[in-house]
Amino acid sequence: MSDGHDKGQAPATRLVKGGRRPEWTGAVVNPPVWRASTHLYASEAERKAALGKDRDGQFYYGRRGAPTQWALAEALTEIEPGAHGTMLYPSGVAAIAGALFAVLRPGDELLVSDNSYEPTRDMARGLLARMGITHRFFDPLDLDTYREMFHEQTKAVWLESPGSLTMEVCDVPALAAIARDNVAVTLIDNTWPTPIGFTALEHGCDIAVMSLSKHVGGHSDLMMGSASAGEHWYRRLRQTSHQLGQVVSPDDAALALRGLRTMGIRLERSTQSALQIAKWLKSRPEVAQVLCPMLPGDSGHKLWRRDFTGGCGLFSIVIRGEDRAASARLVDNLELFGIGYSWGGYESLALPFDPSGIRDTMRWPPQGVDDGLRSGVRLSIGLEDPDDLIADLEQGLTAMGSP
Ligand SMILES: *Cc1c(COP(=O)(O)O)cnc(C)c1O
Repeated sequence: MSDGHDKGQAPATRLVKGGRRPEWTGAVVNPPVWRASTHLYASEAERKAALGKDRDGQFYYGRRGAPTQWALAEALTEIEPGAHGTMLYPSGVAAIAGALFAVLRPGDELLVSDNSYEPTRDMARGLLARMGITHRFFDPLDLDTYREMFHEQTKAVWLESPGSLTMEVCDVPALAAIARDNVAVTLIDNTWPTPIGFTALEHGCDIAVMSLSKHVGGHSDLMMGSASAGEHWYRRLRQTSHQLGQVVSPDDAALALRGLRTMGIRLERSTQSALQIAKWLKSRPEVAQVLCPMLPGDSGHKLWRRDFTGGCGLFSIVIRGEDRAASARLVDNLELFGIGYSWGGYESLALPFDPSGIRDTMRWPPQGVDDGLRSGVRLSIGLEDPDDLIADLEQGLTAMGSP
């Protein structure tokens, strides 16, 4: 469904134009919410003629969506250079499962980046293992060890950059090239940058997965996921998704489409605010380290500058001192930051974390931080005034107490 794909236009323009076909929108700006199970045919001959055809963007039955979902999928395809199509899923985790099932079969091995989102790790250890698909975790910053891990059964690699919670940027083009040399497929969780910040397929990945619950929705009011790919893998994604019976509601698709239209400026604003706040936090005595690739001096900053065209409002800090309760005191004392999961909404959030139990090969705390320090806090910077957020963090850190 890549009709209307105009590579000559800038991402900001594609975010606005994507998926707005006149036959889907009619005389209004946005495609209406088409609530539908049954799609009616004009005649039995027409129904028969539609059987077995490649049906993207054509009426068939509700499980294959209707113009509201098609418009969202097409808009996501149009902002992902190299994509032939996009499948939608009821959550980001469902998209991860859908993409892995499209690629893997019993007997295959999956290599999983050690800083992947925790439910992705759980999926490898649980569901995939039960289906006879093995996995090993690898340190995406250690290319030499990674290169040696491939064997005949290694069929796919799962990447995430920056990594969940700890925010390491990895050399995606190099990791994907090594996978390709070993005839393995590269999948990436591209939720943090979105294609506006990192064009995953152009950088060597075969399938780019996103949780649309984050930046695309942008308003903390919907759950959805997507997977985009070139023609070969798109067809496999679609076939697998149809066999699993995956479909998203047209109401949520309309919300996601509405979010997508303003995603570019929301990302720009939250990136600026996050950078200002990260710089301020770096100067605070209570903060041992700021984990934010947008920040000059961060271990991932060089790769981020080389490969990315944007950032977002999500980064982490490591609290100084061995007091494990400190991060709880900090977030309990914040007034403008909610405590909760998810991120990428218009409102700021703070989440204490300690990844030491969910890493197999990577070190926590990160390089340059004392071993005793474990307490992390992940911040999702929203659209509030950054000076107000800094004032809130200042009083929160003061109330938390010095190390
Ligand atoms: C939240 C998240 C997901 C899962 O998305 P849901 O829509 O919550 O299922 C996947 N990957 C990353 C990096 C996430 O942060």
